Amino acid sequence: VTFNLAAFMTISYWLDAHREKQTRQVDVAIIGGGIMGACAAWWLSKRKGLKTALIEANKPGWGAAGRSGGFVLRGIMAYYDQACERYGREQAKWIFQFTEQTQAHMAEFAEQTGNQFQYQRCGSYLLACSLEELHYLERAAAMLVEDGFTAEYLKQDPLKRDYYGAIYNPGDAAVQPALLVEALIAASGVSVLQGEQVFRLEPSSTGGVEIESGGYRIRCDRLLLLTNAYAPLLEQWFAGKLQPVRGQVIVTRPLKKQVLDRICYANFGYEYFRQLPDGRLLLGGCREPFAAEEVTYADNVTPSVQTALIGYLKDRFPEAAGVGIDYRWSGVMAFTRDGLPLVGELIHQPVVTGSLPRSVPGVFYALGCNGHGLGWSFALSKLLVEVALDGADPGLFSASRLNAKAVAAQ
Ligand SMILES: Cc1cc2nc3c(=O)[nH]c(=O)nc-3n(C[C@H](O)[C@H](O)[C@H](O)COP(=O)(O)OP(=O)(O)OC[C@H]3O[C@@H](n4cnc5c(N)ncnc54)[C@H](O)[C@@H]3O)c2cc1C
Repeated sequence: VTFNLAAFMTISYWLDAHREKQTRQVDVAIIGGGIMGACAAWWLSKRKGLKTALIEANKPGWGAAGRSGGFVLRGIMAYYDQACERYGREQAKWIFQFTEQTQAHMAEFAEQTGNQFQYQRCGSYLLACSLEELHYLERAAAMLVEDGFTAEYLKQDPLKRDYYGAIYNPGDAAVQPALLVEALIAASGVSVLQGEQVFRLEPSSTGGVEIESGGYRIRCDRLLLLTNAYAPLLEQWFAGKLQPVRGQVIVTRPLKKQVLDRICYANFGYEYFRQLPDGRLLLGGCREPFAAEEVTYADNVTPSVQTALIGYLKDRFPEAAGVGIDYRWSGVMAFTRDGLPLVGELIHQPVVTGSLPRSVPGVFYALGCNGHGLGWSFALSKLLVEVALDGADPGLFSASRLNAKAVAAQ
């Protein structure tokens, strides 16, 4: 069952009320079979004796995870020096170390499971497209090294493709993201209900949480809401806190020779490219000049971004001229105002006039991966499971920071 989530996020009385539904009772239910849902299921499987279910509107990987570039990068969509300015140096260091934990867990998972998802620790280049960007990269590299991270500043373009220089991050990795989701779900043994879109989420009259989809009514003690960009469509409390941003990608036919051996991230992350194991070039991004058009849930590619992607390919990869494009796709990311995910329990009182109260104890969320969900995945879902099951503090990612800012602005 596949359909455009953007078009169908509610259900009518006519379509639903006459249906007989199966009921299920589990300890922990997960909504969303993306990288976060799959990773959370895997962490939950390490807790003995928990009955779990993962409910997915389409099929696992159908959202942004299976449409991503497959880059597993350290850090966030801000170079290290910018992150230090934004969050303070200690917190930026902590964030970058946190994403390195994902890389370590993923490498271990690949080894334990016979690398079923083309994990490759190939390293990355962060490439400067201007002298200004080179200046940021030089500063970022120096600060990374000062803070104990491995990074190398290259003042010449390592690709010889008209970039101004780069940072080389040897610890970054590439994966086949749809296979990674599959491998995690298989290893977790979680019961998957696919083609089931949840349209209701309420406190249960018998305690815990009740959710409902077309075919199921599920009661659980705890619910992990891992629908990333789609969360505001199910749960209004997230409206305005997560912005949906579409990203577009192209993949060429296989090239005759290998032209890249690392994953590449350029123009402050607005463009990214890699060569796939079968020789194809994958290129994504080019949305920056069309930012307003790309704030959408619609799953389609557009002439403006696609033309820009083809132009980029022509300029930087003459080898790809005339090779042909085999795939074009889009996916929807979720951005927060400060670039960090939101983690917490859905117990929120209105702090700002007009904002919605919403309290469903037992519902826990980790949302707003800001275009780096693979990089956040293992570490963030581990934290979420600890928040939900052990009462851990979401710390820096707590949504209470939004309230604090809102009160300050009043
Ligand atoms: C084009 C593109 C390229 C990207 N490249 C990279 C990259 O190289 N590296 C990187 O780290 N990140 C990348 N990202 C970002 C990354 O894909 C996301 O950050 C990540 O997938 C978020 O994971 P998630 O599991 O939270 O959400 P998703 O992967 O979006 O999964 C959410 C799931 O929830 C399901 N769902 C939604 N609503 C409901 C409902 N009501 N009921 C049941 N199920 C529901 C959806 O069907 C979906 O499968 C890219 C994103 C895009 C769009």
